[in-house]
Formats: sequence, C-alpha cells, structure tokens
Amino acid sequence: MPWSPIAKERPPWMTVRAPSQRSRFGELVEIVREGGLHTVCEEARCPNIGECWGRGTATFQILGETCTRACRYCAVTSRKRGEELDPLEPAKLAAAAERMGLEHVVVTSVDRDDLADGGAAHWAQTIRALKRRCPGATVEVLVPDFLGCEEAALVTVLEAAPDVFNHNIETCRRVQPIVRVKGDYDRALRLLARARQVWVERWPERGSLLTKSGIVAGMGETDDEIVETMRDLRAHDVDVVTIGQYLQPTAKHLPLDRWVPLESFRRFRAEGAAIGFGSVFAGPLVRSSYRASEQRLAATGESRVIAY
Ligand code: SF4
Repeated sequence: MPWSPIAKERPPWMTVRAPSQRSRFGELVEIVREGGLHTVCEEARCPNIGECWGRGTATFQILGETCTRACRYCAVTSRKRGEELDPLEPAKLAAAAERMGLEHVVVTSVDRDDLADGGAAHWAQTIRALKRRCPGATVEVLVPDFLGCEEAALVTVLEAAPDVFNHNIETCRRVQPIVRVKGDYDRALRLLARARQVWVERWPERGSLLTKSGIVAGMGETDDEIVETMRDLRAHDVDVVTIGQYLQPTAKHLPLDRWVPLESFRRFRAEGAAIGFGSVFAGPLVRSSYRASEQRLAATGESRVIAY
C-alpha cells in the first residue's frame, strides 16, 4: 500500500505543539520506563505527546503491546496472540499514576480476542488498583469491543466503577468494514448503549455513568457521514464525542484520504453541541484522550467549555 500523495503535504494547522514543560516530559519518560508500562501515546505515535507529556499527562495502555486485530489505520503491532499478562501491571500502573499526580487517569488497551474474557478481569483489576492508590482521581476507560463476550465483560469492567466509559466507533457506517476488518458499527453502538443500561440496572445508587466515543476523520468518509455518526452516537445516549484528523502511520497503512479543513471541525463542534453532546472536542490534533480531563468536566457541567 503506498503513501497517500497528500500525506506529506501537511497543512499549516497540523503544526504540533512543543512540550510545555521539558522537565515534566523527562519525568514522565522515567516513570513509564521504570514501571515497565506502555502508553498509547508512544504505541500509536500520537502527535500530541510533546504537549501532553509536557503537561504531565499520558494515556496508559494495558494488556500488552500486541493487538489481535489489524485495523488498517492503526500503528499498534498486530499478531494472532498477544503477550502473557503481567499480573503486577495494575499495581505498577496505579503507582505510576500516583507518582504523576494525575487527577484524571485514562487507560486503554489493545484488543485481546485470544483471551476468553477479552481481558475484562485485568481491566477490572486495573480500575480497582487505581481507585485504591489514587482515591481522589477519576478513571476513564477506553475499552475494546470484547467481541464474543460483550455482556459478561461489560459487567466485569463496570463493577469496578470507572467514571467514564469510552469505546471509539472510529469511523462512519460505510467506511467501517473497509478499515476495520473485525470491527462492527452497530456492535460499537450497542456496547455504548448497553454500558449505561447495565450501570443503571445493577448499580442504581451510583449515579450516572459518562459514556464517550471518538471518530477519526480523513479515512474516506464525508463530513455529512461524520455528522450522521454523531447523531447515531447521541441516539445511543453517548455524552462525549471527540473528532480528530487521521495521520497515515507508514506506507503500509490505509492511505490518507484528505486533510479535513478547519471549517469542517467548526461544523462538527456546532452540530455536536446542537445534537446535545455534553462535550464535543473536534480539531485536527484532537484524540480521544486529548485533554480528557477537560472533556469530562465539560460534560458534567463543571466547566463551560463544551467544544475545543
Ligand atoms: S492525546 Fe492522548 S494519546 Fe496523544 S499524547 Fe495526549 S494523552 Fe497521549
């Protein structure tokens, strides 16, 4: 698969911000390496790493470095089987989050279709370890679709009481089968809606659960299809949405289809607010975990910024 001819012609609005505090960047590198941890910031080659790590925030990736899916746009290494789970990973991650002083901890994982529970028990241990070690912090989980064990995995993960439940739909209905061989648009929507239902049915005393999803633009969809996807997410009770620009990681990955203009992101923010999302972060460098703490505050009404 070739490089898209436009991939290297970056428009000026794709300029990446330098670390805001170089000392904090170095400190985070040390904490992550010492803990033997993985971050999606590095694995997915996120363009915001300078800014986020410079501010002292990172997104942890659990369940190993190897994903059992092979989505055409994703930079994470893919094989049929992932690594042995590290039973100490939840404790190491919680210790790192405490050392970093995080008030909002975002955790994601690779897909583990090779595990009977999709990795749900490890997810739950991680959330519990964070709640014990960082009792004042909120925990956001960006989970896979737990193909084949969705309901049981949802119960296991939600029982550990995360504060934000995130599952990225990634792209519109038409493009989904082209770029995500094992992904499914309706399964993603069902998982998001079901998370809220399970939460309310099983733990009515807990109050509401924030649900969230993300869309990557520039993989062959149109602006109208992005708006349609936002409407589908809202129809499934999703509170928070993020929309950012796709970056082709290597020549072997899905060719970049377009640089999404700034006016399109403005439209997504306006339409997202009108549709009723509590928070709409849409911009070229927005990623699901970008300024995730601010997204949460916007959606809970603790901040008035609902669009970035
Ligand atoms: S946007 Fe998310 S993945 Fe990217 S550097 Fe920031 S925290 Fe990491």
